[in-house]
Amino acid sequence: MKTLLLGITLFVSALFPTCARCAAANPALEVVVLGSGGPRPFGRGGSSFIVLLDGTPRILVDAGPGAFLRIGELGLDLDNVDTVLLTHLHIDHSGDLAAFFNARALSADGPIVYRIFGPDGAGQFPKTSRFVDLLVGQGGAFEYQKTFGADESFTVRDLPIALDSPRSKIVDEKGLVVEEIATHHGDCPSVAYRISYKNAVVVFSGDMDASALPNLAQLAKSADLLIFNCAVLDPPASPSQLYDLHTPPKKIGEAARDSGVKSLLLSHLAPDVLSRDDAVRKSIRASYAGPVAFASDKLRVPVGRQATE
Ligand SMILES: [Zn+2]
Repeated sequence: MKTLLLGITLFVSALFPTCARCAAANPALEVVVLGSGGPRPFGRGGSSFIVLLDGTPRILVDAGPGAFLRIGELGLDLDNVDTVLLTHLHIDHSGDLAAFFNARALSADGPIVYRIFGPDGAGQFPKTSRFVDLLVGQGGAFEYQKTFGADESFTVRDLPIALDSPRSKIVDEKGLVVEEIATHHGDCPSVAYRISYKNAVVVFSGDMDASALPNLAQLAKSADLLIFNCAVLDPPASPSQLYDLHTPPKKIGEAARDSGVKSLLLSHLAPDVLSRDDAVRKSIRASYAGPVAFASDKLRVPVGRQATE
């Protein structure tokens, strides 16, 4: 806890240009929390993160409502963000995607080539390639966006959603490796992601119920930071139907222990979870001894430094 908080403090302060020492010490891999809430509106953005490599924003992980606002508040430079990882297509994770495209295009110097990853479709949920088409493709709601500010093109890959699908590598270039594995989030297809860069590793659980924990634990093995969406309390404190969608704190702690992650950041926080943060922490502590912190919007987290600071 102490070491993670120290790292967080250092890099929140690194947002300000007057801190020359911090600015010169950009870690290889960082995460900026754009939205730590969702889906209820209570002052936090829906789930969204920006991943920075060597201090440069490069990867958008989910695009919940509020991401656009936080990007502007932080003054993030989007010029090199070309990769989008969507854990699933619920509104609280994807509602600002078109707004992100719009924001990115307005400061672009030339054509933008996006690569987008997200789950395959099932039931009411379109596959990710169809989702992007429905937004900005021919006949899509915001078709104009493809040439608004900059010419945009999209390569979209639909990822397997069966729980027995093998973990797969979807990006491997210049030291950056992104891997994914299917999870389970009720009837909504979902995946988790692992990002590795220069010996630092962060894993994003997305929203998932406990049935997918073996997959998550495998993907998160020995990661420096696991960002786990913590939307419910331990049973029976939350509505029973939510346990078919989300993993309770006790099992989050067990997953962190089983995967051997070095630190844990809880996000996608709900008001009742926040009001009982001590109980949540205690429940996780029953299994997991590493640093545990609660996310907030605009939090900046260096990855891989917690163990040394
Ligand atoms: Zn959600």
